[in-house]
Amino acid sequence: MDKTIAIIGAGQAGLLLAAKLLNVGYDVTLYSEKTPHEIRHGYVTSSQGLFASSLAMEREAGLNCFEQAVPDNTTISFTTADPEHHTKLNAWKGHTDSCYQAVDQRVKFSRWLDVLEQRGLKVNYQSVSKQACEKLVDDYDLVVVCTGKGELSRLFKRDEAKSYHQKPPRKLTLLYVHGLLGGDNSSGVAANFIPGVGEYFVMPGLTLSGRCHMMLFEAVPGGAFDCWDECDNNEAMLAKAKELLKEYLPWEYERCLGGITLTDEKAVIHGEFTPEIREPIATIKPGKAIFGLGDAVMLNDPITGQGGNNATRSVQIVFDEILKHQGKAFDTQWMQQTSDKCWEKNAFIIAWTNSFFEPPTEAAMYLMTQAQRHQEIADKLANAFDNPNTLAGWTESKQAIDRAVFFLKAQNKCRDKVTSFRRPLHLARARLKTRLPN
Ligand SMILES: Cc1cc2nc3c(=O)[nH]c(=O)nc-3n(C[C@H](O)[C@H](O)[C@H](O)COP(=O)(O)OP(=O)(O)OC[C@H]3O[C@@H](n4cnc5c(N)ncnc54)[C@H](O)[C@@H]3O)c2cc1C
Repeated sequence: MDKTIAIIGAGQAGLLLAAKLLNVGYDVTLYSEKTPHEIRHGYVTSSQGLFASSLAMEREAGLNCFEQAVPDNTTISFTTADPEHHTKLNAWKGHTDSCYQAVDQRVKFSRWLDVLEQRGLKVNYQSVSKQACEKLVDDYDLVVVCTGKGELSRLFKRDEAKSYHQKPPRKLTLLYVHGLLGGDNSSGVAANFIPGVGEYFVMPGLTLSGRCHMMLFEAVPGGAFDCWDECDNNEAMLAKAKELLKEYLPWEYERCLGGITLTDEKAVIHGEFTPEIREPIATIKPGKAIFGLGDAVMLNDPITGQGGNNATRSVQIVFDEILKHQGKAFDTQWMQQTSDKCWEKNAFIIAWTNSFFEPPTEAAMYLMTQAQRHQEIADKLANAFDNPNTLAGWTESKQAIDRAVFFLKAQNKCRDKVTSFRRPLHLARARLKTRLPN
């Protein structure tokens, strides 16, 4: 614990890493460009659905501040819609073994900052520039940059070989609303895919004013959902959301009929960015480098809801590697090896996310029909969002999918038999007990 560590950026990666290091006695200083008050009163940033493993890491770090208030999501519904006839082409709903949650980052990060300062974390409220980094690398043994989509992240060069996108694949519009009706898919995210048009995701979450729904529209550039630029105020954005749902996803529009309102005046954002992978190390001056973590170096489109989960997975790896490295210098070799481990963990997840921007393969379409037909497959897919690496190996061909269906069904039959066998045995034992004298 003799090393000093600076973390720049008070988001999912920076705050979680700071909490974990603080808990084990490291001398950590966090640099945040915004105060808790500014974060809380700023614009929404994300819909940040975090799955079971990420939530477990937050819990372990003592950052599960919202367990009582946040909705527990337990299903994932997937619908492919016909872009012309506006009907469902395919639909399935899977159940997750553990719940997942979405807490507004304004609520979460402002609270985490307060909690961590109370626990003794040193926080400097300033926007860190490149010049400031030149000083930080002299003052600290390790400087971890977790500045997400911020300018400072551009210090890390784009890794052409690992990057898939040259331009933004989608235009994003996010709205937090109150008043959305439940409908069939109210126990988790309802994901709707409209080929050539875009996607619409809606998920129960927690915001400043309590429980809400987070609506995310992903527009294919030039497609029918790419029509938000003309909206110049919040009411126009809300009206546009309802108009698009009414036309393209009538079953989702029905959920708006109770009357929906924005949760607050900063509950809507619209924009675009190019997802990319950046090199994890930036040399700031001879012999001195900074290390990138989270969106700063692995920036993804939210189409699969994995950015925050990837950042959380990487935090765990970086934390473990810092602990293992006690006493030694955090040189570029350590940085490269640590980043390689993060890449190893997230590479498939990133490739899987990017596959959503390609026309679906025959195997992917078959998987969707099998998920609609067999609940076991729908549940397996829903659970895979916690660790998409579990999709590798069985989703790539029809044969592999068929094998999975067969195996999962056999497993369920076996489980049913064991339970029905155990039940009479259990009853017989109970009956025998009542007959036996004391
Ligand atoms: C619309 C949308 C929906 C999403 N939905 C999901 C989802 O469902 N599930 C999921 O897992 N992920 C989702 N994501 C992605 C997720 O929000 C991010 O991947 C995650 O927040 C990344 O964490 P981070 O710490 O790397 O960056 P951030 O959380 O963005 O934090 C970066 C922090 O650095 C600060 N900062 C920037 N520059 C400086 C500077 N120079 N000095 C000091 N501080 C600075 C910023 O103010 C910010 O607080 C979504 C993203 C978007 C845009």
